[in-house]
Amino acid sequence: MTCIQCGSKEIVKNGSIHNGKQKFMCKECGRQFVENPQNIIISQETRDLIDKLLLERMALAAIVRVTGVSEHWLQDYVNQKYDTMPQCIDVKKKKRDV
Ligand SMILES: [Zn+2]
Repeated sequence: MTCIQCGSKEIVKNGSIHNGKQKFMCKECGRQFVENPQNIIISQETRDLIDKLLLERMALAAIVRVTGVSEHWLQDYVNQKYDTMPQCIDVKKKKRDV
């Protein structure tokens, strides 16, 4: 595993938190974290890649496999994206019965 902040592999065990999860500390930057942090920092590069894959209409499960983000995080990300997107395409206006 690598440091979530600086990417260093110089990680040491640093006790455990109240729920028994192993806590780690980075020897490089001193950042402390647990094995599965709630607030995962996703790099801008990964976000850009996800944007491209979404445009290709790739399934969320496939994007999870390709980028390594959590499914939960991706779902939140997509929801946020659609919330902020302008609703410029109104498919209901298409009439097919002409
Ligand atoms: Zn670090």
